[in-house]
Amino acid sequence: MHNPELLSEEKVFKDPVHRYVHVRERLIWDLINASEFQRLRRIKQLGTSYLTFHGGEHSRFNHSLGVYEIMRRILETFEGRIQLSREEKLLCLCAALLHDVGHGPFSHSFEKVFRFHHEDWTRAIITGETEINRILRRMGDGFPQKVAEVIAKTYENKLIVSLISSQIDADRMDYLLRDAYYTGVNYGNFDIERILRLMRPHEDGIVIKFSGMHAVEDYIMSRYQMYWQVYFHPVTRSAEVVLRKVFQRAKDLFQAGYSFRVEPVQLLPFLREEITLADYLALDESVVFYYLHQWKAEQDPILKDLSSRFLDRKLFKYVECTPKDFRLIADLQKLFLEAGIDPSYYLEVDSTSDLPYDFYRPGEDEERIPIMLLMPSGEIVELSRKSEIVESISGKRRFDYKLYFPLEKVLALPEGLRQAICERLGVVKDADGSCQDHPSD
Ligand code: ZN
Repeated sequence: MHNPELLSEEKVFKDPVHRYVHVRERLIWDLINASEFQRLRRIKQLGTSYLTFHGGEHSRFNHSLGVYEIMRRILETFEGRIQLSREEKLLCLCAALLHDVGHGPFSHSFEKVFRFHHEDWTRAIITGETEINRILRRMGDGFPQKVAEVIAKTYENKLIVSLISSQIDADRMDYLLRDAYYTGVNYGNFDIERILRLMRPHEDGIVIKFSGMHAVEDYIMSRYQMYWQVYFHPVTRSAEVVLRKVFQRAKDLFQAGYSFRVEPVQLLPFLREEITLADYLALDESVVFYYLHQWKAEQDPILKDLSSRFLDRKLFKYVECTPKDFRLIADLQKLFLEAGIDPSYYLEVDSTSDLPYDFYRPGEDEERIPIMLLMPSGEIVELSRKSEIVESISGKRRFDYKLYFPLEKVLALPEGLRQAICERLGVVKDADGSCQDHPSD
């Protein structure tokens, strides 16, 4: 007999990372077709990374389907090993599919300036008045709330939470493989099929059978490499800085009562910081690019310059700095002001840090669930106690600070100021006495 909860025929998406994404449940199919989910096609997974790695143009839609597919395969592996109700299985699948649904365009730059968190929008889209909410409620009025709790890591069943967010989860496994694939880098690969095959449910979380340890080591190293080689690439961060400054300038102008050549209608709620769910859902990258084009022709020289820089990829250069360089930064700010280059838009320290893997440190701010291995004896052992490779990077946070500035503006300054700034930036001098580009990238 035909089951109305299942599609009469399985739907299959072609996917370059997992080969195929399989959808049997009508609920999942309807969620994918909801307008709030389709919107993710118009938001790039890697934000400004495409300006460094031109292949990195894949969307959040693409990643979200991938996380769903990994979750579907994990549940398949768990079949017969653990009792999950139909509702719990759907909860896992929906949370996987929707975990990033609240992301907006260029989240990193946009959220900082307009002061909100995409996580709050994810919750609002799932629990508010949306198509997604109506579809989820077919499973019961409390179901959307449960999906939101799994994503927010507050849901009571910790096994389900850990499948979406832990140190080895469906989200990370998808984005590492997917981002490596689309950016075209050579690191970032690991044997996901082996990890999924050797993953077992255990009490409140998952364990990996010891024979899968090397595949897990590869995964940890891939994460480490991807963070430093792709996600924190200095040129990508330069593009983020420039875009942040564009939004900052637009906001400052708006607050000062500036009259824009073309009124930024769709951005007004953000500029005013009074954002409704409908305003948020109307925002995607095409809207941001539209205004960047408009601003390229604005009267205000700073907004015009910064918008052109982003569109035409005339990004800021950088030098290394340390957090102790306060003096240097204060000096440079003064010199920039003297030179007529506003340091609040043209001089920026960008810092980043990452902790590749950590074992359990109870009570600490960033308490992390460690990866556990299931030994042949049945004993459960934390990964870094068995793997020397993982042990060597466990608990070690790495920091990076860079100072961003427009080099060509500095080079165009009169001799004295140019010299003074170049000296402080440590930009090397050429034989003819002019400053040279720092060997970035
Ligand atoms: Zn994600």
